[in-house]
Amino acid sequence: MQAGLPPELEALKNTIRQIVKDECYPLEAEFLANPSQEGGDEGAPRGIAEALSGLLGTLPKESWDRLNKISKDTGIYTSFVPEEYGGGGTGALGHVILDEEVHKSIVQLPTSPVPMMMIGAATPEQEKEYLLPSVEGKLHYAFGQTEPNAGSDPGGMMQTRAVLDGDDWVLNGTKTFISGATTADYILVQAVTDPEKRQRGGITMFIIDNPSPGLSFDPIRLWINPTKVQQFTVNLDNIRVPQTKVLGEVGQGFTLGQKWLVHHDRLLRGSMATGILSRALEMAIDWAKERVTYGQPIADRQAIQWMLTDVYIDIMTLRASTRETAIRADNGEDVRVEASMIKYCAGEWGWRSIDKIMQIFGGTGETLDLPIAHWYHILRHARIGGGTSEIHKFVMARGLLDGRVSFQG
Ligand SMILES: Cc1cc2nc3c(=O)[nH]c(=O)nc-3n(C[C@H](O)[C@H](O)[C@H](O)COP(=O)(O)OP(=O)(O)OC[C@H]3O[C@@H](n4cnc5c(N)ncnc54)[C@H](O)[C@@H]3O)c2cc1C
Repeated sequence: MQAGLPPELEALKNTIRQIVKDECYPLEAEFLANPSQEGGDEGAPRGIAEALSGLLGTLPKESWDRLNKISKDTGIYTSFVPEEYGGGGTGALGHVILDEEVHKSIVQLPTSPVPMMMIGAATPEQEKEYLLPSVEGKLHYAFGQTEPNAGSDPGGMMQTRAVLDGDDWVLNGTKTFISGATTADYILVQAVTDPEKRQRGGITMFIIDNPSPGLSFDPIRLWINPTKVQQFTVNLDNIRVPQTKVLGEVGQGFTLGQKWLVHHDRLLRGSMATGILSRALEMAIDWAKERVTYGQPIADRQAIQWMLTDVYIDIMTLRASTRETAIRADNGEDVRVEASMIKYCAGEWGWRSIDKIMQIFGGTGETLDLPIAHWYHILRHARIGGGTSEIHKFVMARGLLDGRVSFQG
C-alpha cells in the first residue's frame, strides 16, 4: 500500500519527515508546557491556520521564525501551491503527503495559509491584494459559512443577506464557529444574494477586510482549547463591500466554497488523521514495550496487541484511500463523494483509534504532558467540523443512489 509515489514526492516526503523529526519533535515538551493564551503566540500561524492546526501550546517567537524560515528555505511552505503562484505545484497528492508529515508533530511546521478557493476565482487585483500576500504568509484568512441556524444545511438555511446599494453590496447577518476570525486579515463570507435560487446560483462569496466598520466578534469557548478562544460568532452589521470584493461570480459563492471544502476540509482530514495516528502508534508501541505489569511488558498481552493492530489497520486503509482520492482529484475527476468518505473515516476511525491509543497509555494518556489528549480532542472534532459524519453519509448515499459513484473497482 506504500508503493507508487512518484520519486519527487517520495523525496519531498522524506525531507519533510526528517525536518519534522529534527526541528519539531524537540520543541514539543516546551510547546505542551505553555498553553496558548489570548494575545500571546507572536509569530505563530494565524487565521484559519491557527485554529485548525491544533495550536494548543506556545513557543517563543524565535522558534516560530526559525520553523517558518526552514519551511520557506526548503520550498516545503508553498510546495502544494500551483507553480504560477510561486509554489511547487505538487497538486493534491503532494498536499496530502505534506499534510500527513506535518501532523506527526503537535508542533506543526508552518505551511502557506493560502486560501486555495481564490485560485482561479480571484481577479488580477484580488490576486495582488490578497492571494499573493497570503501565499507568502503575510496575510491570513478565515472562512464564514456556518450560521446559528445554518450548520448542516448551509445552502437551504443561510440567512445572511447581501443587497446591492449603489455600487456597494451591504451585508447583514451572523456567522458562527468561525475559526481564527479575529486574527484573520480578511474573511471570506458567503451571503444570500438571490433568496429564490439560494445554493443554486443565489449565494455569493465576499472578501471582507478585518477590521471593517460593522464587523464585530463574540468569543466561543470550546473544550478543544480551553485556554484560548479560536472560534467566534461574527456579526455583520450593515457592512459595505464594493463590487470589486466579490470573489468569483455573483451567485457562485456556494459552489466555490463547496469545491474548496472537498479539498481542504475533507481530503486533508484524511492526511491529518493518518499523520496524527502514525505518530501516536509509534509512541504507543514504545510505551507498550516499556510498561510492565504483573511481571511482563503490556506489549505481551493480546488485549494491547489487538488495539495496536486495530490502529495500524485504520492508518493503512485511510492513507491508501486518501492518496488514491488525491490522485483522482489531480486527474480531474469529480471526487466529491470519495472526499466525503475520507472525511467520514478520518473522523470516525481517527476518533476510535486515538481512543485506543489513550487506553494503551492509561492515566499517562490523559495528562497534558503528552500530545495524546490534544489529539483526542482534534480527532473527536473531526466528526463534526467540516460537515458532520451523518451529513457525509448522506452525501455518500446520494452518490450511490443516483449512480454518480462507482464501487466496482
Ligand atoms: C471547532 C469548530 C470549528 C469550526 N470552524 C468553522 C469555520 O471556520 N467556518 C465555518 O463556516 N464553520 C465552522 N464550523 C462549523 C461546523 O462546520 C458546523 O458545526 C458543522 O457543519 C455542523 O453544523 P451544526 O453545528 O450547526 O450542527 P447541526 O446542523 O445543528 O447538526 C446537529 C446534529 O444533527 C445531525 N443532522 C443534521 N442534519 C441531519 C440530517 N439531514 N440527517 C441526519 N442527521 C442530521 C448532525 O449530524 C448533528 O449530529 C466549526 C465548528 C467547530 C466546532
